[in-house]
Amino acid sequence: MLQGKTALVTGSTSGIGLGIAHSLAKQGATIIFNGFGNADDIRHIQQQTETDYGVKTGYHNADMSKSKEIADLMAYAQQEFGGVDILVNNAGIQHVANIEDFPEEKWDAIIAINLTSCFHTTRLALPHMKANNWGRIINIASVHGLVASAQKSAYVAAKHGLIGLTKTTALETAQSGVTCNAICPGWVLTPLVQTQVDARAEKDHISNDEAKKALLAEKQPSGEFVTPDQLGDLAVFFCSDAGSQVRGVAWNMDGGWVAQ
Ligand code: NAD
Repeated sequence: MLQGKTALVTGSTSGIGLGIAHSLAKQGATIIFNGFGNADDIRHIQQQTETDYGVKTGYHNADMSKSKEIADLMAYAQQEFGGVDILVNNAGIQHVANIEDFPEEKWDAIIAINLTSCFHTTRLALPHMKANNWGRIINIASVHGLVASAQKSAYVAAKHGLIGLTKTTALETAQSGVTCNAICPGWVLTPLVQTQVDARAEKDHISNDEAKKALLAEKQPSGEFVTPDQLGDLAVFFCSDAGSQVRGVAWNMDGGWVAQ
């Protein structure tokens, strides 16, 4: 379905981004990986994707908190692959603290990586997409783009902002073959969440399994984690013809989190 398309997935060396990259590769898309990690592991991810799905891959190590490096990443995509047809803005970080204790540099980093980077990739990807009259921009927001939780001020602000950016992008592209939507996952067991599980286990003197159950019980009625593969399949739907009039939505996949 996606043969001939090039997908850039930011933050795709781990977790949700890696799951989405695999789902898009399964449909035949060329994948440009981005994110941190050691060079051998990243080469392994690329090789495995190429072998398993018979697609081409690339990698760029841009730090998504830096606009100059984002520009380099987009120039690399243009030079090596002719441009980005599917942009998945996924790179993200978290920090948990009350507002009065929230380190200023953590606030700045979360806003830069989780929100501002998406503005830069979008503005640099749009000319190619508009010229082809086809493109898909998929912003990985969060249930925290729709509702808040205590101690996540920067993250909640960034994700609410990202849903706003999604809607504006969708309106500016509404009369074209370019769409922009957001995906809002609930708890997904990735390294980003494992850190919060570990903190919970330590604070409450409970096991890792008990901490996972406690985290889910608080927010996610299904009592189960969402998986990166499930999110990848939703991204594939947004890329399909059936998804071509889905514009500006913030689609939660959250085990019932925001239904409460
Ligand atoms: P993760 O920590 O497993 O992966 C994050 C990825 O982003 C990694 O590849 C990492 O190298 C990359 N990254 C981090 N900082 C970067 C930077 N400055 N420049 C480039 N790459 C950078 O996290 P995840 O859970 O897979 O999260 C992915 C996205 O999904 C994030 O935007 C996160 O907010 C969102 N999300 C996650 C959950 C969850 O429960 N895990 C829920 C809702 C939304």
